[in-house]
This record gives sequence, structure tokens and C-alpha cells, in this order.
Amino acid sequence: MKKETKYIFVTGGVVSSLGKGIISSSIARLLLSRGFEVTMQKFDPYINIDPGTLNPYEHGECYVTVDGHEADLDLGHYERFTNIKTTRANNITTGRVYQSVIDKERRGDYLGKTVQIIPHITDEIKRCVKHLGSTGNYDFVITEIGGTVGDIESLPFLEAVRQLKWELGKNCVVVHLTYVPYIRAAGELKTKPTQHSVKQLQQVGIQPDVLVLRTEKELPKAMCLKVAQFCNVSADAVTQSVDVPSIYEVPLMMHRQRLDQIILDKTQTPWAGEPDLKKWNHFLDKLKNATGEVKIGLVGKYVELQDAYKSIDESLLQACTYQDRKLNLKYISSERLTDANVDDALREMDGVIVAPGFGQRGIEGKYVALRWCREHDMPTLGICLGMQCMVIEFARNVMGLHDANSAEMDPHTTNNVIDLMDEQKSITNMGGTMRLGAYACHLREGTKVARAYGRLDIEERHRHRFEFNNAYRDEFEKAGMACVGENPETHLVEVVEIPALRWYIGTQYHPEYSSTVLNPHPLFMDFIRAAIAGQNQPQK
Ligand code: GLN
Repeated sequence: MKKETKYIFVTGGVVSSLGKGIISSSIARLLLSRGFEVTMQKFDPYINIDPGTLNPYEHGECYVTVDGHEADLDLGHYERFTNIKTTRANNITTGRVYQSVIDKERRGDYLGKTVQIIPHITDEIKRCVKHLGSTGNYDFVITEIGGTVGDIESLPFLEAVRQLKWELGKNCVVVHLTYVPYIRAAGELKTKPTQHSVKQLQQVGIQPDVLVLRTEKELPKAMCLKVAQFCNVSADAVTQSVDVPSIYEVPLMMHRQRLDQIILDKTQTPWAGEPDLKKWNHFLDKLKNATGEVKIGLVGKYVELQDAYKSIDESLLQACTYQDRKLNLKYISSERLTDANVDDALREMDGVIVAPGFGQRGIEGKYVALRWCREHDMPTLGICLGMQCMVIEFARNVMGLHDANSAEMDPHTTNNVIDLMDEQKSITNMGGTMRLGAYACHLREGTKVARAYGRLDIEERHRHRFEFNNAYRDEFEKAGMACVGENPETHLVEVVEIPALRWYIGTQYHPEYSSTVLNPHPLFMDFIRAAIAGQNQPQK
């Protein structure tokens, strides 16, 4: 039977980076734990077709969905909180909306009409919002509107929300997330920016149903009542999101304030009892009670940027938590690593990850780190470019191929142990043209990686143009680096490991995209297991 789908919109006011993605994910977690079918989507107001072409400095990590969409990092939060597998239908940008309207115009679909922002762009946005709901599979579609209310570029999205709210009636709620600053010198919390931001929403015709006030200090009840009064929101629907030590506590904090019940009531959805958060609480208990720590060094070039390796950070945290350890993650700048300082930088670590990436900057430091890790038998995981660097470092320093390189760094190298994939050779466009999304991989029996997964056939997500050059495969195997995972159809090498070492594994794919709170990734689990085991063993 087709479900009557309800729509929840999450908007943001005052400033960006308030955690709309976390609030949206928390709402989804609570509704799922009550047995509802839920999906989530993010609308981004920028003109790029997708964030794949964006530098991480602009927008943090680029997340990849199973169907090969380069997506906003909030989709990573959605998956980590909910276990829902997102697709390209779950992340729409202004660029994509315009592209599809312009394509329709060129096809003549508008029958000679003047094509305009209203109604054509807003209709396209509405079509995308309702697309997931139209399957009849979901009780709730949660749509996060990127950007901040008041931005020029968000206006068409808000106009679409206004129209939908009118059309959907009780089947629609708007949750508005704002900021309540604490003025330290005056010792006061200020709600004026929240009032203004709600006014701005009202000006475009949207009355929010629920407010979530982000604050670093708990707001007194009277202050929430004042906000309710000024903003035309019922008193019980003014909730607050106080800074908490872990983002994974947010669903519980919001449940304590009845956010899920309020949404169910406002959408007239029958509900009973409490959400089943047993597994979630089990994870949080472990997170709080973890004793001892695991020190992991993450070698990459975006070390000063919090969100650049978001999925890796979260995967490590999940794996440490399930093994009752606190994660002590150190970012190590590959640009600054040299033979002279590498020992100081890595000696104290229990494990090292060499990060994914593109281009030349900081690459030599990755080789320095990997040589040190290999020679000191440090548990090491190389991801994508990190795996390619493992291959190059091994070729140079063990196999004696001193000029070994990736064709990405030196297109004319004679020893192109990492080379451009054949299907990439004729590609000139940058956007959405890499090898993207989930591909099958067969693991060799008896290997470390196969033991880590506990099975031989896996599927993992990719985002790269270059690959291990199979012409060198035998030479690597003979020299002690084994190609232990390959694509069953194309025979592309997906995993390498050095069997003689304790734990030295490189994956061409990105395991970090599929680790979730309730399903930590087996490879990260095994990596942390090796890191813990190594704490009691003398280093070479
Ligand atoms: N730059 C490398 C490639 O394109 C690796 C990409 C990555 O690390 N995501 O193959």
C-alpha cells in the first residue's frame, strides 16, 4: 500500500555551520527508531552541478553515494545516523535544477512559454522534493535546505517550501534552526538574531512550526517562552540544541525535548510509546565509558581543515568506540613531513592513515611517512591516493624502480606503476567523470584483508581516475606486496597488502563512506584492533 508521505523541511538562520545536517539526521534517527520509513535529502543553493569539482577548502569533504554521485558531506551524516543508503536523488543543487529546466526548454517542453524562476525553477524544486515521496515508500521525507535564510540564492527554495506548505497542509512541517549567541562580556544570551531570522522567514511567507535554538549555554525556560511568543511558535515547539561532547548525543537531547513527538503531532501522525534506541544508547555508553586511547596519525594535506576528512574521522571514532577506546586523532601535514622529522611525528602513533587526495602538493611527505611505517611495521591504512602512494613508495624503495610514479604526478614517467585508467583517457570534462560509486571486489582467501571482512566478496565506493598498473603485478607480488583484492570483471587491483608486516593495507576504494554508528566498517575495526594489539608490542 502506498504511504501518505509527510514532508519535514529543515531551514537555518542567523549563521551557517549550526548543524542543520545533524538536526535533520537526528530527526530521522528518532523517526526510524519509532518504526517509520524515512528518507532524507539536501538542497544546496550553489550553482555547481555537484560538489565534486569543489576544493575541500570550500566545502569540506566530498562524499560519494553508492550510485556514484559526488555529494555534500551532510549526506555522510545522514548515512552514519540512519544506515539509509542515499543516491543522487538525495542531493540537489541550484545548478542541477537549472540544468534540468534548461534541458526541458531546449526540448521544447515549455511550449513557447517564457521560462522564469517562478514558476519554472520553483516547480522543478518542488518536483525534486516530491520525487522521493512519490514512490509511496516513505512515511517521512526530510529535506534540508542548505544556506541561511536571507541569502539571495536560497530564495527560490524557500518559495518552493512556501508553496508546498500551503499545498500539503498538515502533511508538512518546517523546522527552523537558529543561533542564540552568548555575549561573554555581558554574561547574556541574546535571542534577537533568532527573532530577526524568523521574521525573515515570515517575510517570504513561511511560518516555522518548530524552532531549534543552537546555543553554547542552556537557555532558561522563560527565554524559550519569550521566543515562542515573538515568533508565533507554540511554547512546546521551541527546543534547544546545547553544545554536547558528541554529535551522536543530539538525537537523545532532541528526544528529551520531545522533538519527535511534536513533529508527529503537528503532522497528525498516530504514534505510541517510545523510540527503540537500545543500540544507539549502547554505542553512546561505550563512547562515554571508553578507557585508554588509540593514537592515530592521519597524514594528509588538508590538516588545518576540520571537515576535509570527515568520514575517515567518524569511521575511526566508531571503530575505537566499539573497542572501548577513545580516539586520539592527530592530523599530520604531509607538506611538512621530511626524513628529518618523520620519526618524531610518527613514533608515538598506534596506527597511521595516509589520506586520499589529488595532485602533487604534499605528496613527497606521504612517501616519507609510508617508508617509515613500512620499515617500522606500523599498522597502516592507505586510502585511494594513500594506497597509490603505498605502491609507489614500495616500487621506489624496495623494487629499486627509482623513478616509479603515478601518471597523475608525472605523465611521462617510464615506471608508471599507477596509471590513468583506459576509460579515462578520452575524458576532458572534470565534473562527475571519475570512476565513481560502488563496485564489486573479490578478496584473496587467507589474506589479512579477507580476514578483516570475514568474507571474500565485497562492494565498496570509489572516486578516482588512476589505478594500479597491472603490467607490474607479478613484479610486486615477487617483491612482497600482494594484490589481494580485484574487480571481478575488469581485474583492476582494488587492495594491496604486505603479508610480511603486521597490518599494512591499501585500498583503492573508500571504506570510510560506508561506516555507520550501528554498523562500523570491518576494515576500520580491524585496523584499530591491530593498532591496539601493537600497543603492547615493541616497535621495530
Ligand atoms: N588522485 C587519485 C586518482 O584520481 C586518487 C583519488 C583519491 O584519493 N580519491 O586516482
